[in-house]
Amino acid sequence: MATIFTKIANGEIPSYKVAESKDFYAFLDINPLAEGHTLVIPRNTEADYIFDLDDETYAGLTAFAAKVAKAIRKAIPCKRVGVAVLGMEVPHTHIHLVPLQSEGDLNFANEKKQLTPEQFAAIASKISAAFEN
Ligand code: AMP
Repeated sequence: MATIFTKIANGEIPSYKVAESKDFYAFLDINPLAEGHTLVIPRNTEADYIFDLDDETYAGLTAFAAKVAKAIRKAIPCKRVGVAVLGMEVPHTHIHLVPLQSEGDLNFANEKKQLTPEQFAAIASKISAAFEN
């Protein structure tokens, strides 16, 4: 059975798309630590754990995530874009990209931001506009 993230990448479940390529898909985390918190996933594998990916997929995923991070940095005022891999909840490899003002912003125990659909859509479209393939 397809994972929820495969269904998102295929457009079967809605998401706030930030960027996509043939092999990878980036969308806003629905429970964000910060405005612009984005998830980046591979389309072609549902491998649960990032370090089980084959070398080519791993390299492609991290290179795509770097492009997304650059777009986030342009679109969202922040000092850095933090990177995290957890996978405690969804068993489909994904990289978290989180705009940071300070190191405490990458604490997943922090309260999540409450955003309206309009705010999510506006953030996604700003990052998407800054994305360079
Ligand atoms: P983890 O597997 O621990 O890395 O956490 C999964 C992340 O996916 C969490 O931050 C969730 O908020 C996020 N998430 C789960 N379902 C969705 C969804 N349908 N759309 C966007 N983000 C999601």
